[in-house]
Amino acid sequence: MHRTLNFEYNYKVPVLMKRDTAMMQINVSQLLKEPVGSTRSYEVQGAVNITGGASSEVEGQVELTRTNRGILVRGKLHTEVKVTCSRCLTPFNYPLTLNFEEEYFPAADVFSGAWMPLPEEPGSFTIDEHHILDLSRAIVEYALLSIPMKPLCREDCPGLCPNCGRNLNFGLCACEVVISNKPADKEKGME
Ligand SMILES: [Zn+2]
Ligand SMILES: [Zn+2]
Repeated sequence: MHRTLNFEYNYKVPVLMKRDTAMMQINVSQLLKEPVGSTRSYEVQGAVNITGGASSEVEGQVELTRTNRGILVRGKLHTEVKVTCSRCLTPFNYPLTLNFEEEYFPAADVFSGAWMPLPEEPGSFTIDEHHILDLSRAIVEYALLSIPMKPLCREDCPGLCPNCGRNLNFGLCACEVVISNKPADKEKGME
């Protein structure tokens, strides 16, 4: 007897999902009017310019919680940035997972529109006077902190031959013998 379980194609599932889709800018005017502890979940998706070159696609989930001072954003976001291998100098895509947790402070009171005093903490994130919470700047900051100082295209990247400059990922060059003798030469020179 054969039974086919086809849960993936159950069209009722999306209806039951409570998450809204959002770009990097989320209007939080409604949430700001709600009591402390109220939450909203979003699937976020959009492009953010992280490295100054091409924009990176960012996607993931965030949960927004109303706090007594503003809105706490927690979530997990995935993106990819183009970096250059520190050994072979080849550009490659480096995947990043950002575990996000930041409190955002409203610049204006959601009921009266009056400007709000912002916290003294330097670099704190704000919700603008139109009640837009923009994730972009925090994503850039998180991403830049997550990119390694010396990225490697792969853990055992052999790099470039210091003699002829050949990318040794594509095979050895004719100077192989010279390279393997180098450490010994160096030691001798240091004596
Ligand atoms: Zn490399
Ligand atoms: Zn070489």
